[in-house]
Amino acid sequence: MKHSLIRKGLVRPQLSELVINWHITEACNYNCRYCYAHWDGNARELIHDISGTRQMLENLWQFFHPENVANPLQKQIDWRGIRLNLAGGEPLLYSERLLQTLSDARNIGFTASVITNGSLLSRDFAQLIAPKLSMLGVSLDSAVSKTNRQIGRQSRQGKLLDMDALEDAIKAARLINPKLQIKLNTVINAINCDEDLSAGIRRLAPQRWKVLRMLPVVTDELNVSDEDFQRFVARHRDLGDIMCIEDNTDMVESYVMIDPLGRFFQNALGQPNYRYSPPIPKVGVAQAFAKVGIDPSKFCSRYMVPVARGLP
Ligand code: SF4
Repeated sequence: MKHSLIRKGLVRPQLSELVINWHITEACNYNCRYCYAHWDGNARELIHDISGTRQMLENLWQFFHPENVANPLQKQIDWRGIRLNLAGGEPLLYSERLLQTLSDARNIGFTASVITNGSLLSRDFAQLIAPKLSMLGVSLDSAVSKTNRQIGRQSRQGKLLDMDALEDAIKAARLINPKLQIKLNTVINAINCDEDLSAGIRRLAPQRWKVLRMLPVVTDELNVSDEDFQRFVARHRDLGDIMCIEDNTDMVESYVMIDPLGRFFQNALGQPNYRYSPPIPKVGVAQAFAKVGIDPSKFCSRYMVPVARGLP
């Protein structure tokens, strides 16, 4: 009921936080065949420019600050805080820059989270990064070696995710920051759609498990049928209290996303690639955001349920 009122624009929903996803790098040590992390352009990634990064974060903070009435999103959504979510590629490839950027973001006022494939998350690094985060996201598509290899979730040397090491790192992170929320992301695709991932998920005990359907934007390789996707969801219904499902249409124009060059971008089903704004460092946040907006109703439905549960 509430969602339909939001879609009709009759209710201005309240979010605990607006989430800005910055994909800081395209580089990754894995090579997933469905990977979405490919962007146009070959300029230097902004994360390597310390002052440019700081400047962009400050500008984002001013524009998306809940009291900035000049932001057109304000007319449709009400939010209280801003979370900067750093993703990739694999953000832990640049661990120093990642830690520094998280510190800068927190000093400015953001809360922060990171999404990683988990392969570089040592116990020591987990202890360093955990105090800076409200949420740590780990992508986990399979607990089966053969499946991970077929998807491309292995390093050039053929190294796979070590579940024991990941479990250990997550435990260490939780110990040092008991408020840290753990989120797992699984992309359902043609290779893992028949798997029962319940034991692997339970082992890591996340507060939230996001189940995403393979999105055919960059490639339609490993596309999954409606029935196979629904069967995967049904097979894991016992995890329904933490599972959060995203189908293809939910994922279009419903995130605030920034690419490694500092441009807002959006995905659009049926189009061969992303749509981009000019770089934020060149034209400023307001002008760049006006070029690539988001769909407020989809954005809200994405965050309404987690907010109600008090989760990010
Ligand atoms: S781990 Fe993520 S960024 Fe890396 S190849 Fe796979 S989907 Fe792409």
